[in-house]
Amino acid sequence: MSDVVVIGGGVAGCTSALALARRGLSVHVLERNPGEGASWAAAGIIGPQLEAAGDGPLARLCLASRALYPELVASLAEATGLDVGYRRCGALQVAFTAAGRDGITREVAWQREAGLAVELCDGEEVRAHAPALGAEVAGGAWFADEARIDPPSLMRALRIAAERAGVRFRAGATVRRILVERGRASGVQLEDGTTIEARWTVLTAGSWSSLIEGSGLAPSAVRPVRGQIVELTPASPALAQVVYGPGCYLSPRDDGRVLVGATVEFAGFVRAVTARAVRDLLTAALRLVPALEEAPLGRTWSGLRPHPQDELPILGQGEIANLIFATGHFRNGVLLAPVTAKIVTALIAGEEPPLNLSPFSPRRPGIAG
Ligand SMILES: Cc1cc2nc3c(=O)[nH]c(=O)nc-3n(C[C@H](O)[C@H](O)[C@H](O)COP(=O)(O)OP(=O)(O)OC[C@H]3O[C@@H](n4cnc5c(N)ncnc54)[C@H](O)[C@@H]3O)c2cc1C
Repeated sequence: MSDVVVIGGGVAGCTSALALARRGLSVHVLERNPGEGASWAAAGIIGPQLEAAGDGPLARLCLASRALYPELVASLAEATGLDVGYRRCGALQVAFTAAGRDGITREVAWQREAGLAVELCDGEEVRAHAPALGAEVAGGAWFADEARIDPPSLMRALRIAAERAGVRFRAGATVRRILVERGRASGVQLEDGTTIEARWTVLTAGSWSSLIEGSGLAPSAVRPVRGQIVELTPASPALAQVVYGPGCYLSPRDDGRVLVGATVEFAGFVRAVTARAVRDLLTAALRLVPALEEAPLGRTWSGLRPHPQDELPILGQGEIANLIFATGHFRNGVLLAPVTAKIVTALIAGEEPPLNLSPFSPRRPGIAG
């Protein structure tokens, strides 16, 4: 019997497991197929200001999580000696037309009022930040506090740090159902019939969360949304910062690679890379940065983002006692990992969570079954 069983070893599950183990709890992570989740496919943009559609609970949650990243990264470096590629590199959001630039200005007005770092730029000012941007770029906004991370390195470090903190990982373990006795979760049953008991159960199964029996989630509470990425490997680094533009974003790596992402597609659980997506992403990327035209193509891949109907993550406890949800992070699960872990830990420790969780309640319409 563990204190906590965590269903799914993606970024939500691993950061939560690590934080719980550091509080002295015994934690068991059950993972069907390590590497299958969205966390290994992500572009690693820590971009609450880029992603915000106005002020609101999600924007505030994302900003709170960005603020927690330096502490998480430092603790991972201390525990593992690994560099997870966290860089406060800043980000540009750009447009090709004056109308597009005005749209960005309107979108970020609340951020300026809220005192967040945002600088409006014309075309020349944007190119002063990123000289490789093409002459067509008409301006946009510069967000100095946005960051990036390397998700595969983050996942490796989280796993090692969690194991060193005492977390037990079981790969190849597919959870079929959550066991509930008298309204209280008591653990899980695996596909092979084995049961694993725990005082607390944490559901972090990403796009597959609604498929697990007994959670109380509606069948369509979380659906997969495919994202495809194309990697370019220019001979010399083209960009230092993240760039969001029409039709794609560009996320650079220290070694000069540029990740061009990402599509947003309801395509079921099919993780294909398609000709159309590669064409569209490359067309958009080369319009933004023509200097990438001669860059060798690297890998292509895709992943499945956990999409809740209303695009708000599902965080907290629902009708079933001792069952905590930490899923439905959609486009921002890497960004939201540190705050998710803090929320899960607070709820299990019986403490006040760091933010008001009511907008993210598992009991809200469309999410509860
Ligand atoms: C192309 C792409 C780009 C992205 N870019 C960014 C970005 O730049 N920044 C950002 O913040 N976010 C980004 N995201 C979103 C982010 O990746 C996700 O929100 C996040 O990874 C979700 O993490 P998770 O742990 O909830 O789910 P996952 O990483 O999907 O993990 C869930 C795990 O549960 C396991 N599982 C499922 N069912 C079972 C079961 N029955 N039993 C046992 N295990 C099970 C799965 O195998 C999986 O490993 C991107 C996503 C994609 C696809």
